[in-house]
Amino acid sequence: MPNNPYHNSRHVTDVTQCMYTLLLATKVAHRLEPIELAAAFVGAICHDLDHPGLSNTWQNNEQTELARKYDGESPLEHHHLDEFVALAAKYDLLGNIEPAQAARFKEIVTEMILATDMARHAKLMEKITASLTDKAFDPMHDEVGINLLLAIALKCSDISNQVRPWTVANRWNAVVYEEFYAEGDLDRAKGRAVAPLQDRTSNDVNKSSVGFIRFIVKPLFQIYADIMKRCADLDDRSMVDSRAVEECLYILDDNMQRYENALNGMDNENTEAQFETLDALADQVGDGGAAAPNCVEINHWFGGSPPNFRTLYLGQIEVDSADFWTNRLLSSSSRSTAENLASKRSHTRTLKSG
Ligand SMILES: [Zn+2]
Repeated sequence: MPNNPYHNSRHVTDVTQCMYTLLLATKVAHRLEPIELAAAFVGAICHDLDHPGLSNTWQNNEQTELARKYDGESPLEHHHLDEFVALAAKYDLLGNIEPAQAARFKEIVTEMILATDMARHAKLMEKITASLTDKAFDPMHDEVGINLLLAIALKCSDISNQVRPWTVANRWNAVVYEEFYAEGDLDRAKGRAVAPLQDRTSNDVNKSSVGFIRFIVKPLFQIYADIMKRCADLDDRSMVDSRAVEECLYILDDNMQRYENALNGMDNENTEAQFETLDALADQVGDGGAAAPNCVEINHWFGGSPPNFRTLYLGQIEVDSADFWTNRLLSSSSRSTAENLASKRSHTRTLKSG
């Protein structure tokens, strides 16, 4: 990953950690096939590969090589996807699994990464909102639903900065706007109009953050919470749990209030009581409440070295998918995928054979 102010390896680690929480703390991971869970994490890790730090709008305005290559259609996301495909081929990532499983893996990663283009956001939100109005809609009934769920989980993770505790959320904002303003400066130098969020001379970060949380982040996390609730309602084993996502919504409200306070010149001190409430909520979530301890860990390491992902997070995965992921799928001494799947088949869907 290039060393951009925002789109760098730290963002990738952060997004992957959030993906972990949204799938594991909700126990959705228990309902996924191992190949789907593996694809979900690889999709998160690869979603911004070789990001140049300049947006699709810039690429298209400048008619860069990427814009020309993809005819202006999600040039960055298509580039990230092509980088994944090249890396997967170079390291024979899928060499040890059956063709049908490899195809399923690529299908999920493709849909997830393309969905991160915010130009596709409104259409995706309309699609899932319309689906959820049908009371019989089961997001985990088939592969189409799973793909949509995982795409939304990655979209949530990709803009999850404001779901972190206030001090961490603020530090993310600093680097997001550093990258935005650098692009705005380039536009200004080119004599183009500068987008409001990229204009360092006029943008108010507090005001922008309130709008971003209210109109983009919160509705997206609310949709994910609704999907989790629907899964829980339709899950006769009562496995899926939406409370970790509701905890995210709580933090979003709290952070939005703090930006509003700052906007109105009010003090944001003495708000520890709100964090105590948050801790109490995390305790209620119990063993599903991975979001709270992970937030603490993020807070701890954000100023220093990134965590050892496998030790801190994958080590906590309870389902046998973890073993599949860490020891089998990516290992040259991989156990047969069919053997692994057979051990789970009584509890899971059957993948398409073609
Ligand atoms: Zn990203």
